[in-house]
Amino acid sequence: MHEWALADAVVSTVEEKVGKRNLSILKEVHIRLGELQNIDREIFVTGLKMMLRGKQCGLEVFKIDMEEAGFKCNYCETEWKLNGYPGIGEDEREAIHFLPESAHAYMQCPKCGSSDFTVAAGRGVLIESIELNGQEPTYND
Ligand SMILES: [Zn+2]
Repeated sequence: MHEWALADAVVSTVEEKVGKRNLSILKEVHIRLGELQNIDREIFVTGLKMMLRGKQCGLEVFKIDMEEAGFKCNYCETEWKLNGYPGIGEDEREAIHFLPESAHAYMQCPKCGSSDFTVAAGRGVLIESIELNGQEPTYND
């Protein structure tokens, strides 16, 4: 199950960042899940819970946000979201989730009509910040 592998990777990365210290020093870990990643949030959370067993760190430390799929025109730089794009039904949405590049078959830049655009948001999984008790948050980009 890829949610579990992902949960494992997130916890290992966090451990790496805090230098294998006791995870009770964690105050907040902010995670962003891209909509196009096809991650079942519930399964991911269950996976996290399992990976945190015996690590002195509770699940409540992990804040998980979903990032909506977004696109950007390479020609006029207009940005738009998958949600709300006219003519995108369940089938199209599913196809785009499965294969983000297929968006080109269903969408054009809403401003200039160009089909030269890139998937600008909603891909990948990011540990946005790790905040430790009594310290300023550190951001990676
Ligand atoms: Zn455009």
